[in-house]
Amino acid sequence: MKTIGMLGGMSWESTASYYRAINETVKRQLGGLHSAKIVMNSVDFEEIEKLQRENNWSAAAAILVKAAESLEAGGADFLIICTNTMHIVSQEIEAATNIPLLHIADATAEELLGDRIGKVGLLGTTFTMEKPFYKDRLINKYGIDVIVPDMELRNLVHKIIYDELCLGTINNDSRNTYLDIIQELRFQGAEAVILGCTEISLLVEQRHTNVILYDTTAIHVSKAVQFALSD
Ligand code: GLU
Repeated sequence: MKTIGMLGGMSWESTASYYRAINETVKRQLGGLHSAKIVMNSVDFEEIEKLQRENNWSAAAAILVKAAESLEAGGADFLIICTNTMHIVSQEIEAATNIPLLHIADATAEELLGDRIGKVGLLGTTFTMEKPFYKDRLINKYGIDVIVPDMELRNLVHKIIYDELCLGTINNDSRNTYLDIIQELRFQGAEAVILGCTEISLLVEQRHTNVILYDTTAIHVSKAVQFALSD
């Protein structure tokens, strides 16, 4: 079994979901007392969030590169960044390390293509919904058409992530807000919606809506375990 290097803490609420889901998947697949081999570096999200707000991506990259190097030195065979947003610095991390990085957008796109989804709605932080690092990867590398909510709704989705979900607050009104936005994306032609923030599945689950959801946390976990258990 390969050792998974987890870049976590963004936020720790979703990293906890990753940790549990990775171990549950390994247990399900291997049985007995099997559990995942993991090294983790969990950063202080307050520091990262401040740099995001200041658009200081190079300083954020420096923190995550150092953390990734520590994972490689600690025996990780490959890396996962346990957040969609901070894949904005995935190239810097890949350049600084000698082990593979399983990109969350690639993992998600492979699922979408497998299910023949050609047009998808994307929910996440404003960075993920607006900057090219994520959307353009889906469009240019995989030919998947991506739509996002309008600006007012993007800001609302973003605010709920940082003011509630990253703090472990689960609010029914916020869930309804998300469900309305998901429905609206469906009306606009999205065949499915990507939960493109690793905390959203704490709030919205498939059982809450008829619109097909792609939970990036679950997809990333599944790819990571598949890779860890492959030869
Ligand atoms: N975990 C979230 C994501 O998947 C947001 C927190 C962050 O900015 O990293 O994008």
